[in-house]
Amino acid sequence: MTHNVSVEVTDGFHLVIDALKQNGIDTIFGLVGIPITDLARLAQAEGMRFIGFRHEQNAGNAAAIAGYITQKPGICLTVSAPGFLNGLTALANATTNCFPMILISGSSEREIVDLQQGDYEEMDQLNIARPHAKAAFRVLKAEDIGIGIARAIRAAVSGRPGGVYLDLPAALLAQTIEANHGKRSLVQVVDPAPRQLPAPESVDRALALLKGAKKPLILLGKGAAYAQADDDIRALVERTGIPYLPMSMAKGLLPDTHAQCASAARSFVLAEADVVVLVGARLNWLLAHGKGKTWGKPKQFVQIDIAPTEIDSNVAIAAPLIGDIGSCVGALLAGLDRAGIDKPEGEWLAAIAEKKETNVAKMAALLDKNPAPMNFHSALRAIRDVLKQHPDINLVNEGANTLDYARSIIDQYQPRKRFDSGTWGIMGIGMGYAIGAAVVSGKPVVAVEGDSAFGFSGMELETICRYDLPVTTIIFNNNGVYKGTDVNPTGGAEPAPTVFVKNARYDKMIEAFGGIGYNATTPEELTRALSEAIAAGKPALINAVIDETAGTESGRLTNLNPQSAAKK
Ligand code: ADP
Repeated sequence: MTHNVSVEVTDGFHLVIDALKQNGIDTIFGLVGIPITDLARLAQAEGMRFIGFRHEQNAGNAAAIAGYITQKPGICLTVSAPGFLNGLTALANATTNCFPMILISGSSEREIVDLQQGDYEEMDQLNIARPHAKAAFRVLKAEDIGIGIARAIRAAVSGRPGGVYLDLPAALLAQTIEANHGKRSLVQVVDPAPRQLPAPESVDRALALLKGAKKPLILLGKGAAYAQADDDIRALVERTGIPYLPMSMAKGLLPDTHAQCASAARSFVLAEADVVVLVGARLNWLLAHGKGKTWGKPKQFVQIDIAPTEIDSNVAIAAPLIGDIGSCVGALLAGLDRAGIDKPEGEWLAAIAEKKETNVAKMAALLDKNPAPMNFHSALRAIRDVLKQHPDINLVNEGANTLDYARSIIDQYQPRKRFDSGTWGIMGIGMGYAIGAAVVSGKPVVAVEGDSAFGFSGMELETICRYDLPVTTIIFNNNGVYKGTDVNPTGGAEPAPTVFVKNARYDKMIEAFGGIGYNATTPEELTRALSEAIAAGKPALINAVIDETAGTESGRLTNLNPQSAAKK
């Protein structure tokens, strides 16, 4: 005689969701299809948020910026092969920017993929992901899902954060195991990003260097913003009295209007300083690799970073301080009195103040002009003035000229409120970052976009409308890439490589999905539209008509164009 004993079972789908939830992850950004549609459905059924996109790259960018804002890995879920590859661009970008993110992709049957027998969406995803990620893992057994997700979380957020790839074959998701066994296999990650204290002797070395400085400067990078050590960073700046420069995504760590902010004298302080304290900022191309004309006079560096191999990457670092930014800045603060560090000499501060005053006056003159049609400056003046009333708004910014001008004209007042083209200087992050920031912060977003940059993620307007997100997108429409005036030199009918449809009405795009569209041709119209859109808290798009002759080739990166570089 047989007994019909029913044993409760669970499967790969449930274990993935349970493992994520158990580790406090409540949101997935993704795009459904074979084999992960049911995973997305289940996530929603189990109380997670699933934000569905129109292209995986944008979902990945949303996950990456969510990771940057929250210090929890942002999750992006894609289908196999092409969906995975689309998400991979975002994963590589997250790794480059040190944002914690996990790209989870479904994949085809291993035994067919490995023998290259031509499966549906066949691709060896794990090996393709590896060089673009901080770590890459594949899970083959349902009972390993808990460990796989624990490893992915820890790899994404510990040490220098980055992108992690997690490969989940279709067969794994359907695998069943006994429910109790499954439950026991899940892992609660303890202290995923442990503090890393700097060695005392490295703290003393840094303090000694600062003590001898005549013209010190603090440089804050997005690593400093990520670390959420806002109070200590502010205390370090204010107690030492050292002037500081924020990198673009570190703007707002202290308000840009702070008396010690040297942004308006950037070239001057970089060239003149004798000791520079780098706080979560790499000496990459964005900082002219720490050498050459930009850096002028010889100088010595203190570098605070969690990654020891970052030190001496471009120039010799006199005082490396390895640890998490909170611990390192805290240790410096604790040692200031012991080291006898006084405020910088008045001469240095006065020279910076004078330079700031001249540059601010020059910029004010540019901003005060009212050309018709609008140019970058007059449009940005209008935006700056509206955003000043809303210091907690998230600002997304990409483009060439639109990025360069907005970065210096729009002030930030709070930390982690500016999200832009980042370490690669790329286009295409716009709507992904806007959606990610809106979803995890619950606060409105304004995305200031070049017309070309917007094109890479523009279809996500539908996503913004579908989830009714408070995102206002402003398109700086000058009819083309850089500007809209190029002509085909052959006289042929086909347009020049850099130009778009003239006088396009991007505002009509959002109307197709029920959002509010505005067409703004003057700063007054732009002010009105933006104020109204923010007040409404609804999806909106403002087509800001900019003079098509305004703008320079490649914005401020003209020197990187091989042709212009050769002319030098
Ligand atoms: P920016 O582009 O603003 O100059 P980067 O992305 O080049 O900034 O540099 C960020 C740096 O911050 C990276 O080298 C990274 O290792 C470091 N970093 C990130 N998070 C932390 C942290 N919590 N503690 C210390 N360093 C960090």
